[in-house]
Amino acid sequence: MLIVNPATEEVVADVELADAAEADRAVERARRAYPAWRDVAPGDRARLLRRFADLVDEHRDELARLELTNAGHPIGNARWEAAAVRDVLHFYAGAPERNHGKQIPVPGGVDITFQEPLGVVAVIVPWNFPMLITSWGVAPALAAGNTVIVKPAEWTPLTAMRLAELALAAGLPEGVLQVLPGAGEVAGARLVEHPRVAKIVFTGSTEVGKEIAAKAAAHVKRLTLELGGKSANIIFADADLEKAAAAAPYAVFDNSGQDCCARSRVLVQARAYEEFMDRLAAAVRNVKVGDPLDEGTEMGPLISAEHLERVRGFVQGAPYLQGDCPQGKGFWFPPTVLTPELTDRAFTEEIFGPVVSVVPFADEAEAVRIANDTPYGLSGSIWTRDVGRALRVARAVEAGALSVNSNSSVRHWTPFGGFKESGLGRELGPDALAAFTETKNVFISSD
Ligand code: NAD
Repeated sequence: MLIVNPATEEVVADVELADAAEADRAVERARRAYPAWRDVAPGDRARLLRRFADLVDEHRDELARLELTNAGHPIGNARWEAAAVRDVLHFYAGAPERNHGKQIPVPGGVDITFQEPLGVVAVIVPWNFPMLITSWGVAPALAAGNTVIVKPAEWTPLTAMRLAELALAAGLPEGVLQVLPGAGEVAGARLVEHPRVAKIVFTGSTEVGKEIAAKAAAHVKRLTLELGGKSANIIFADADLEKAAAAAPYAVFDNSGQDCCARSRVLVQARAYEEFMDRLAAAVRNVKVGDPLDEGTEMGPLISAEHLERVRGFVQGAPYLQGDCPQGKGFWFPPTVLTPELTDRAFTEEIFGPVVSVVPFADEAEAVRIANDTPYGLSGSIWTRDVGRALRVARAVEAGALSVNSNSSVRHWTPFGGFKESGLGRELGPDALAAFTETKNVFISSD
């Protein structure tokens, strides 16, 4: 498959896609590598993961440039992502030595629990954050003693492939981490159906996530799902409007809106609406869209011509405001602000592009009602100076990753995942190993 730079439309690589038979061979290699990897002493597994993290650090610039070329991420963002991959690996390198069970008081003996690895884990990755999302599944899965097969998205396999090379160079044994570029419906589907794959970590669309959940049910296969979102950025009249408006564009236009956490619905309290819109307009006009190689660039292109058409389809008629973007080669779409009805498609469906919808609300109850009126529940923000209200609304919004007076959602040491149709299970944070292990209870009689 030809891999295209979305900023220039140049072909940058030609990657062979695995068929179902190749997926089967990868599972067999992972299965054979599993017993020895499971038995690596915790301290040694930790050292190998640290060495892997160190190699990622040494190749940070190369990985960032590869992500830029393959996914169109601005260089500043791509550098941050490469460093984040390193940090995720370092964080979970600390886990093998802390993967303890419990000792539970029982009569007539001792009761202890073990956290056993699952076996072969498949990590199916989308194209929006190819290397970062790869690391979220790979690092805790390996730390827990599983062997891993990554199935990158068709359009963006390059950084995952490079990470697998770095893992080998760091000393991870053959077969412990494999990357299998392939079509979702072929290689991905085969991994989901394969009886020897114990767990699927899937990040992608809610539609495909539901299909995978249904297939996984046939084997009672373990699942983590990170799916779509349509998150609300709720701005109360008492908030620091200057700060909220200056930050709002980046909460949705970052990565050109191709972010499951994008705060693509901005809800503004009616009495602050006009002031907020004036400030927002100024902030949107300032977003720097352009060449990903330019250090000042804040927003790059969309991933593909196909996706560009999809995003364009959501903007009917004249938008409230549209910023600038390059013309000519590349899959460019400008930052766009809409003021739709609550029932419009642009307000209810995930666009996954640089399009934000702003609506007014009267009071706290209405804000919560609108925020929750969606099948999604991934992230969101609450802007207010009233601590009580911040807490009330944070508890009332049905979403897994919220922020108050900030738009940040993801830190590798805090849990991340969705309510409702945004997902199942949690990634990252101190408890991610639980998602890659089974609890085994053992009673030892003292008689
Ligand atoms: P997608 O669902 O089309 O594809 C995701 C991955 O699944 C790709 O690797 C694809 O090849 C594979 N796939 C497709 N069909 C498959 C099948 N039948 N069986 C097995 N694998 C299959 O999604 P996408 O378009 O690549 O990504 C965009 C979506 O991902 C958005 O909806 C976004 O919200 C979501 N996303 C969610 C999170 C999160 O953490 N919640 C993070 C990033 C992206």
